[in-house]
Amino acid sequence: MAHSTLANQPVHMDTADFLRHIEAAFKRIFSDGLNLMHYLPENKWLELKRAGLLLPFLAERHGGRKSNQFEIQEVLRIAGHYGVPVTLRTGIEGALVLQPLIEFGNPQQIETGLDLIFNGEGGGLAITEPETSGAAIAREMQSYYEYQDNGTVYVHAVKYWQGNSQSDFLLVAAKERKNGKLSKTINLLLVPKQYIDYETLKSEGLRAVRYAVNRIDAAIPAGCVMKLSENEAAGLRAFQNIFIRSRLQLVGMTHGVMEYIIENLRRFVVNDIKFVDHERRQIMKRHAVSQLLYRFTCRHVAPDQAVAHQLMEANIIKTLATEYTYGAAQILQKLLGAKGFESGHPASNIAIDIRPFTIFEGPNDMLYAEIYDQFVRATHQEKAQGIKPDKNQTLLQRLLSDHRFTAVRLPERSEVPADIAGFLQQHRLGEADAAEKVFLGKIIARLFVWAQADSQDATALLLTDVRKDMLDCQELGV
Ligand SMILES: Cc1cc2nc3c(=O)[nH]c(=O)nc-3n(C[C@H](O)[C@H](O)[C@H](O)COP(=O)(O)OP(=O)(O)OC[C@H]3O[C@@H](n4cnc5c(N)ncnc54)[C@H](O)[C@@H]3O)c2cc1C
Repeated sequence: MAHSTLANQPVHMDTADFLRHIEAAFKRIFSDGLNLMHYLPENKWLELKRAGLLLPFLAERHGGRKSNQFEIQEVLRIAGHYGVPVTLRTGIEGALVLQPLIEFGNPQQIETGLDLIFNGEGGGLAITEPETSGAAIAREMQSYYEYQDNGTVYVHAVKYWQGNSQSDFLLVAAKERKNGKLSKTINLLLVPKQYIDYETLKSEGLRAVRYAVNRIDAAIPAGCVMKLSENEAAGLRAFQNIFIRSRLQLVGMTHGVMEYIIENLRRFVVNDIKFVDHERRQIMKRHAVSQLLYRFTCRHVAPDQAVAHQLMEANIIKTLATEYTYGAAQILQKLLGAKGFESGHPASNIAIDIRPFTIFEGPNDMLYAEIYDQFVRATHQEKAQGIKPDKNQTLLQRLLSDHRFTAVRLPERSEVPADIAGFLQQHRLGEADAAEKVFLGKIIARLFVWAQADSQDATALLLTDVRKDMLDCQELGV
């Protein structure tokens, strides 16, 4: 008897039952509709959290579910069927707040944070600053904390564009200041809302999420400091790992939105014009790529395992998942003609709300350039074996021998099409300038997915896009 009661609780259900339970909770809680032009009602959000929405992000030892990446991806995907902001809020609280809190918080911080997440309005992650480029944030970050005595730190931070601004707390990234000098190490501070002055940001879309400029200028109990690591280099790597994990997981959100795009395509686009059919296929091709990216994360990531060695893969998932979902959203909006321009129409909401996914967590162009760098530099495994990639190698040679590619490559993908192989042979590692890196990074990213592509649709789109990137790259030199 006791056993059956336990098995009925979301935390103890098997995966299939748990996911059915979450789907049913969404249906029930949003049964009277959902207005994405307004802030998501806090009581409904809390009900979803209490139904167990965030449990896959929470380690079992803290009352969450057994480690299972598929469940994380699925809750994000299911939430995507209720609109971009709904899955985004799941991702913010799950990947940007809950996971770092559990990984880096001390027992007291974890207790405080969990109480605010599961009984209150939860929190957000504050990294970006108005005066600092997102691309150089780790280097240029100006927000700091300084110990006044053992029990107090003075915090000075200006952050903007935080999802979940005005909720109960922010995890604020800041550098320690000692004797007037900023250190390089970045730590997180769990700052309760009473210390934060906010100025609401009026955003173009995502009306169901709150954004603000957040200012902190206050003496705060020193217990708010969440050390990412005791040493400087490890601290920066830990900071980066938060993003590696969240970029790998982000495809749960975009894949859910991709399915929601297809739902709306079937609902609203009834035209049987031949060209419209062609455009429908273009959406389906983007969906096919999204499915491969989704599968990669389910297979190659685990919530209780390190992700530090997967930076290139994380950047590939993030860029392509967001680029293709944004592309599909734009096609859907276009196919609706004037209706797609109506404020509040689902197609219009998706197209507007998905765009910032190409900006946050690192703008895509920057990440494409980084993919190139991560491809030509020694991998974690190579470093451990003392191997340095030969700079005279061509990109083709690297692609065919890189263990990250060989680990996922299907047997039928052992040869790259001749024109693409010819292009890759013209480039040696380390020769590219900053602009070329963006296009070469795109090509590498698409070929990484093409190597695993077992669908005609995905293969066709990826190769077409690689050829377009080759033309873009060649045009740079003209
Ligand atoms: C809706 C939304 C939600 C957000 N949520 C959060 C949040 O929850 N928490 C938070 O802290 N922040 C958040 N942000 C902020 C976001 O993370 C930053 O805006 C993002 O990192 C980009 O930084 P930036 O705006 O300074 O752009 P920049 O770094 O100035 O980049 C602007 C453009 O310059 C080009 N570029 C820059 N660097 C390179 C490069 N190396 N190579 C090639 N091209 C390059 C790209 O075209 C890029 O799009 C959010 C932003 C938005 C719009």
